[in-house]
Amino acid sequence: MRYAIISDVHGNLEALQAVLDDLAKWRIEKLICLGDLVGYYANPNECVEVLRKKKAQCLRGNHDRAASGLADLSAFNVGARRALEWTKSVLKAEYCSWLRALPDEMVIDGGFLVCHGAPGDPDAYILTEKEAARVLATVCMMYSGVRVCFYGHTHIPALFATGEAVVEKNAAGELVLGPEGLYLINPGSVGQPRDGTVGASYIVYDSRERTVEWRQVEYDIRATQKKVYEAGLPSWLAERLQVGR
Ligand code: ZN
Repeated sequence: MRYAIISDVHGNLEALQAVLDDLAKWRIEKLICLGDLVGYYANPNECVEVLRKKKAQCLRGNHDRAASGLADLSAFNVGARRALEWTKSVLKAEYCSWLRALPDEMVIDGGFLVCHGAPGDPDAYILTEKEAARVLATVCMMYSGVRVCFYGHTHIPALFATGEAVVEKNAAGELVLGPEGLYLINPGSVGQPRDGTVGASYIVYDSRERTVEWRQVEYDIRATQKKVYEAGLPSWLAERLQVGR
């Protein structure tokens, strides 16, 4: 089965549309979103609408929880809070309840796990080898048989592996995951990269071939920036798109 795995869209419709156009080139059988559909950028309703229409299997991220009233905004920095207040003020009631009802994590087709931050803790950031090793041990305990887990939240593409992990590159340049390892994989962010790249990032995962490929997609950043200014959202949200931080 061939999956497209996207994360952290954050109301950036131009980025999402560019990713959806790009993944149309592949034989994608299922679209999965690891959460944070909204928060930060100016098209939360449109992003939810598009992903619902595409029948994407979505998780609920920390921004989705806050925007739908399930968490208070005090945990967020001032800029993120302002953007969330704005998002709350424009989010359609129907989408608000839809976001609320999304799961924090799930096992897809009995094969691999998807979560927002970390399994059992959607707010946790996996940034170091040490954190990744601890999380992989938890995955093993909580979900027997699961060897691959996709996570988001950090907005940084990454692959961590333990056990008898072997990662090789095939002729097409895709990474091939060995059968014995345990893998934690982050597709990066669609709407707001933080790894110094400019554009949108996502993953194509083939569960039968065990291949993973990161795709990097350009889009009209200026259009997204213009909407930030027009909506009166914090201007650094627009500026950071140019540097990917
Ligand atoms: Zn996020």
